[in-house]
Amino acid sequence: MIQNKTILVVEDNAINREMLTDILSSQYTVLEAENGQEALEILEQSGEEIAIILLDVIMPVMDGYTFLDRIKQDAEWSLIPVIVMTQGSSENDEVTALAHGATDFVPKPYRPQVILHRIASIISLRETAAMANQFMFDRLTGLYSKEYFLRKARELLRENPDTEYTIVCSNVENFKLYNDTFGVQAGDLLLQDIAASLRKRVGKHGIYGRFNADRFVSLQERGWELVDRAVLMEEERQRSQSKSRNASLKWGIYEIQDRSIPVEQMCDRAMLAADSIKGFYNRRFAVYDDKLRSKLLREQAITDAMEDALEQGQFVVYLQPKYCLDDGSLAGAEALVRWIHPQWGLMPPGEFIPLFENNGFITRLDRYVWEQACKLLRRWKTMGYPLFEVSVNVSRADIYQADLVDVLQEIVQKYGVDPALLHLEITESAYTENPSQIISTVDQLRSLGFIVEMDDFGSGYSSLNMLSQLKLDVLKLDMKFIQSEMSKPPERGILRFIVELARPMDLAVVAEGVETWEQMDRLRKIGCDYGQGYYFAKPMPSSDFENLLKEQAEKAAQTPVQAPAEEDTALGVLLVVDENARSRKLIRQAYSEQYTILEEESAEGALARIASWGGKLSAVVLSATLPEGGAAAVIRRVREDPSLADTPILAMAPSGTDLGQLSQTLDVDDFAFKPWDQLCNQCLQGRIAWLKQQPDAGSGVTR
Ligand code: C2E
Ligand code: CA
Ligand code: CA
Repeated sequence: MIQNKTILVVEDNAINREMLTDILSSQYTVLEAENGQEALEILEQSGEEIAIILLDVIMPVMDGYTFLDRIKQDAEWSLIPVIVMTQGSSENDEVTALAHGATDFVPKPYRPQVILHRIASIISLRETAAMANQFMFDRLTGLYSKEYFLRKARELLRENPDTEYTIVCSNVENFKLYNDTFGVQAGDLLLQDIAASLRKRVGKHGIYGRFNADRFVSLQERGWELVDRAVLMEEERQRSQSKSRNASLKWGIYEIQDRSIPVEQMCDRAMLAADSIKGFYNRRFAVYDDKLRSKLLREQAITDAMEDALEQGQFVVYLQPKYCLDDGSLAGAEALVRWIHPQWGLMPPGEFIPLFENNGFITRLDRYVWEQACKLLRRWKTMGYPLFEVSVNVSRADIYQADLVDVLQEIVQKYGVDPALLHLEITESAYTENPSQIISTVDQLRSLGFIVEMDDFGSGYSSLNMLSQLKLDVLKLDMKFIQSEMSKPPERGILRFIVELARPMDLAVVAEGVETWEQMDRLRKIGCDYGQGYYFAKPMPSSDFENLLKEQAEKAAQTPVQAPAEEDTALGVLLVVDENARSRKLIRQAYSEQYTILEEESAEGALARIASWGGKLSAVVLSATLPEGGAAAVIRRVREDPSLADTPILAMAPSGTDLGQLSQTLDVDDFAFKPWDQLCNQCLQGRIAWLKQQPDAGSGVTR
């Protein structure tokens, strides 16, 4: 059923009002007001329902003209047509009514048929106009709508066969994120801003419209489309600056040659060009040409094949070994995906990862890779190989997944893998994009025991600033950065400073893309911890990497490959309590052959361990900076336990700590600075040896 239109009758004379209502109520819903003031109140309540107003002039409280003046000031109300009811048909009255903004007038006394007619025709006129408007113009920006733009574009091309034209399309990078972050209103303002610049810039040299959301398209005389790209960039810079919100536009360009192609398709091509640079931080302009065309076709083929490929196991994890630079020993590996396609053969990730990052498939592929990595870790554990960490890549798209932390935790739990063995490489540019999100995600991951590496460090601009805000475990220096540093004389490079900066921040440093002995040697001398690159080994199938593990295992131990059972490690049990996973790891690496190592990251965990292991502990190494006075609590517990009377405690403090002062608050046998190194090692060994010589040495230090 069609709803009746609503008419507001404003008339002080009750008899007149009743009469009008009688005439109208057969076709309309009628609201009545006795004067202008009352009418305003009704508008306030149900203004948007009212299709037309019938207005008397002379009324008490507020007369008709005052009322008219008032509603003309309101953007919404001023659109409602008003018919003024004049006294008699003096021309003067009529002119006054129109001058105050009335749409029409009817003279008193009322003639029902005339009134009904006037009303009907005004309403229908208004509706057609509104519809045409809606069809032609985009409401938000006032630019042409898509349909109307296309029509106009066809006309323009037809009428100007000798003018050369270009189609330029733009859209906002990550517009959805902009809306989510700053609110829909801010998003609308941005679009209006963009429309305004388009008007100003293109002006009479073409036509322009908004297709949908953040997509604007224009058809411009060739040469005018991008007078100067610098102008566009400057426009954008000013926009971002004035709002202090970054919004960058991507531009797609299609130069019209063949006019037999439908205009719609021309626009599609400009948009495809713009989309082809989506996600590329420093690319703003793309021209649609044959090269792009074949690239798009190739991408389409990849997109069509990806689902099946995942299902059929065509994605394979390769491992590239990573080495300790000071002794050249194997330290772990990075998992790098390869696509082995039945027809296309082995494809490097550079061909498909950027595409998957754009179409979202990367999150599924990454999860698959993480799971494969954990499967391998599990397998090595079962086979009794020495344990090495595997690092996996976490794409920036993964960071935006609300369930990222849960997913990772689930995977390590499923395979019974220590999260500290699964290193997560997060690319530096993800930080630039959304610092607060990264900070909170990384915090959560680290609190669960994952080791977080900043990948491609040194490739962006935010590097140093980022270090002060984001707690990390490892810096992975970007390959290009390393290579450009290596081409400079040693004293000119900044690599050394970065490594020195990393040390007090408890960050390990990995150099990527080490290709020559010279590079390796220089990195080692600078103090870089680990190296990865073709100099050592290329990424290899996991079975090849396992051969390396086997070698390691054989080298390391004449003893069988099985991990020693907890009770029978030569020197007994070492309890390591440190909130920092990397510190724990360094100690584990130094002692895992001599001691059974119990690792805890909190005082709480340590107290539980002490309760169950008691007198079996040979020594305790603990971090002086455990949160909430945790160190003192653990020390007290050890000191109060008679079975631990001869168990030495060594406290580790960040370098620069005033040890003299610390020794007054913490009752320990010795102190050392972090990170764990040879010196700490000697210090602990010495303590244990000394205690062993004491005549009343108990069973705490065994054998
Ligand atoms: P990346 O994370 O920076 O990985 C290092 C890349 O450098 C690898 O390329 C590796 O093969 C290559 N590389 C290692 N050593 C050397 C060297 O000495 N010289 C040279 N020239 N290159 C070296 P790859 O395997 O082609 O991977 C390229 C990129 O693809 C990776 O860069 C990473 O961003 C991405 N990627 C690879 N696998 C995955 C994955 O499973 N998930 C995600 N999200 N990204 C991945
Ligand atoms: Ca990486
Ligand atoms: Ca990298």
